[in-house]
Amino acid sequence: MITHVPTICPYCGTGCSVNLIVNDGKIVGTTPNIRSPVNEGKLCPKGTYCHQFIHSPDRLKKPLVRKGDVFIETDWDTAYHLIAEKFRQYAPEEIGILASARCSNEDNYALMKFARGVLKTNNIDHGARQCHAATMTGLTLSFGMGTMTNSIPDIGESDCIFCLGSNTFEQHPLIGRQIIRAKAKGGRFIYADPRYTTTAIQADLFLQFYSGSDVAVLNCIMGEIIRNGLENREFIASRTREFESLKKVVLQNKYNPREVSQLTGVSRDYLIKAAEWIGKAKSCTVLYAMGLAHHSGGVNNVRAIANLMMLTGNIGRPGTGINALRGQNNVQGACDMGCLPDFFPGYQPVTDSVVHRKISKIWKFPDPIAPPRTGLDISQMFQKAGYKNHGIRAMFLVGENPMISEPDLNTVEHGIRNLDFLVVSDIFFTKTCEYASIVLPAACYAEKEGTVTNTERRVQKLHKAVEPPGIAKPDWQIITDIAGMMGYEEQFSYLSPADIFDEMALLCPGYHGITSAKLSHPDGVLWPCPSVNHKGTAILYEERFSHPDGKGVFCPVEWKTPSELPDSHYPFRLTTGRVIWHWHTGTMTRRSKNLADEVNEAYIEVHPADAASAGVSDGDIVVVRSRKGSLSCRIKTVSDIKEGVVFMPLLFDAALSSLTGKSVPESGTAEYKSVCVTFEPA
Ligand code: SF4
Repeated sequence: MITHVPTICPYCGTGCSVNLIVNDGKIVGTTPNIRSPVNEGKLCPKGTYCHQFIHSPDRLKKPLVRKGDVFIETDWDTAYHLIAEKFRQYAPEEIGILASARCSNEDNYALMKFARGVLKTNNIDHGARQCHAATMTGLTLSFGMGTMTNSIPDIGESDCIFCLGSNTFEQHPLIGRQIIRAKAKGGRFIYADPRYTTTAIQADLFLQFYSGSDVAVLNCIMGEIIRNGLENREFIASRTREFESLKKVVLQNKYNPREVSQLTGVSRDYLIKAAEWIGKAKSCTVLYAMGLAHHSGGVNNVRAIANLMMLTGNIGRPGTGINALRGQNNVQGACDMGCLPDFFPGYQPVTDSVVHRKISKIWKFPDPIAPPRTGLDISQMFQKAGYKNHGIRAMFLVGENPMISEPDLNTVEHGIRNLDFLVVSDIFFTKTCEYASIVLPAACYAEKEGTVTNTERRVQKLHKAVEPPGIAKPDWQIITDIAGMMGYEEQFSYLSPADIFDEMALLCPGYHGITSAKLSHPDGVLWPCPSVNHKGTAILYEERFSHPDGKGVFCPVEWKTPSELPDSHYPFRLTTGRVIWHWHTGTMTRRSKNLADEVNEAYIEVHPADAASAGVSDGDIVVVRSRKGSLSCRIKTVSDIKEGVVFMPLLFDAALSSLTGKSVPESGTAEYKSVCVTFEPA
């Protein structure tokens, strides 16, 4: 019999609602859910084929234990005993935990509680550190909180959309659809990016700037707005502070359009026009993604965006706001669940003794939980991993594949290779699994119940469509079982994900009013939803920001040269991004036939003139070198990239991690969008 099971697409943060078509215990197709306010009956190619990897023959089906150089299949009890015994041997500060934005809220909450309550460590983080840590840090300084301010449908209501560093039509195609909606109503679309992307095709004004010059562009636009009296004086006076300090910075001569044009490669007239359109719009919204945040200066980029939106009063109304588009479908949720070294669920600081006491009381562990001290973030963990003295000696990775996704591969590989003990839970045997002591087979999104929280803070329900392969289990169940084996059965007495959600909602102020009944509706609920009678919040900061005084804070920033600049040895600026067919490390999309058939190997996009000067042609294999490492891939010549700029997709093998360097301390994010490289015939 054929049934349709509603659930959520496992790829981008848009969180499109899908129906999985199940026939005789197998998923045979996917259709869009027409009742969803997010995708309204439409899907992009990834969503259309989001069932194709599920029954892949190489899914992990049983736990694996390393014996020398090989892995032996085992049963759950044996694996759990080994893990429990090993974890008991290490001090809390010697253990590191990675959660995942691919896992459900319940998986992540259980892992966070396991880290803090069972292993007594705050060394927990996840891959979002490399995506939107700059957003969290930057927006928290300006507004008091680091989330997307408005909803996805609201973007289509805007009079002017300003999009930077987001190839929206490829990475979040169903959010791209809102740009078309806004344009159809007469709205304007300004797009800023180093590449002429699929998204640029839709632009009414395209600012093609050199990667890493975002702050200069934004300061220039703000200076022009002030010089022409287009700032929103009423909003500035009643809702913000520190405006005079912003004026001092953006009105400097170095940010006038002529100077900035020289620096960024954008014409003076286009900079002036962008300022006029933004300044005069009835409502203006900003969309950005990793093109803005994925920089060593990402925090400053985000602050500059927040300054622009406060300057023009474009916060707290329909069609306005700062919409930082999250990557994976549960980046927002993994952060909300407290899978961060400095926060409990709901962004409650681990260092706050009142919060610490409150959570200890609710959890009721017989012994103290992790002390009120910030743990290590993901890059700090890998820098310390594998060292015997004061190092990280054991790690538990749930749904993360750092051997492909993390920057600075040499450090990551050294750390992982030299750990005493590594447990990886995943749905496939990833590159990282090769280094594991124990590999655990996890259920995928279609094989479990639970919730995820999309980029706009919408909490949505996952439904189980089929059984997991072999004896694979949902991660929340695996973690609960290990906690029980380590003597914490009472604190992990969950019988279902709903039990975990209820406990989490009690702890997390923004989730207090979210109930199972509300989640059964395809709209889900946008947090903050502080009480059962509350409908959820589509637009933040309508009356006050999240700082104690309710004000937004202008945080002026100066443009700084990127951490790397081209020279005669490394003359090209490499920028990285996504393609519509694939998602992140490609473990799922590259096993989906219709997607893999489109693109299935690493490549570098280069301007024909740059290719000619390097003596290579379209289709040749080249060696790409940065100051950090090298790799081989095919060359693709494209005339719509700026000369001197080259582009690589994020997902293939270790493309990103081989060439990129260490993370910067402010956010823990590395420089991914302005790495200097050279290339030559292989
Ligand atoms: Fe929607 Fe994103 Fe899935 Fe495409 S990948 S269907 S835009 S959630």
